[in-house]
Amino acid sequence: MNRSVCDAALYAEGFRNIQGLFGEFFVRAGSGEWELYAYPEVASGAAYSRIDIGLTRAPEQGRSIRGPRHRVLSAQAMTNNLPRIISELLAQSLDDTRMRCPKCGTRYVHLKEPHSGQSWSPFLSCDGAAMLSGRGANRGFACDGTMRGVAPIIVHK
Ligand SMILES: [Zn+2]
Repeated sequence: MNRSVCDAALYAEGFRNIQGLFGEFFVRAGSGEWELYAYPEVASGAAYSRIDIGLTRAPEQGRSIRGPRHRVLSAQAMTNNLPRIISELLAQSLDDTRMRCPKCGTRYVHLKEPHSGQSWSPFLSCDGAAMLSGRGANRGFACDGTMRGVAPIIVHK
């Protein structure tokens, strides 16, 4: 994915660039406490291998996407689909049922993806599943809720 084409598409839609601890990312105001967040994976200096776009809670430290995310795999898809992705995410930020855990109803869900060599499918897991995950006998979860019936990743080729 051509990096400058993708960056230009994000700037044109009101995103701003932020230099973070683990590389650069882009944010744009959403509604209420939600922020639109675009995280490029850099393949080389002039190219991205993909860009994930989703919602994050603005005050949250170390922004990470809650609920389903859009995964853009080409500069053309970025240019063509970004306005639609943004309007879908803005609608999603006004109705958080696609981001809130269906089991506890209080926490949000985040993406769990298999590492290479693992064969399970990506899914959305309650934030409570990460909270208390220790080792051995201390291993426990505040909530093991998962979200079904919602695509965790919407791919744009
Ligand atoms: Zn939960």
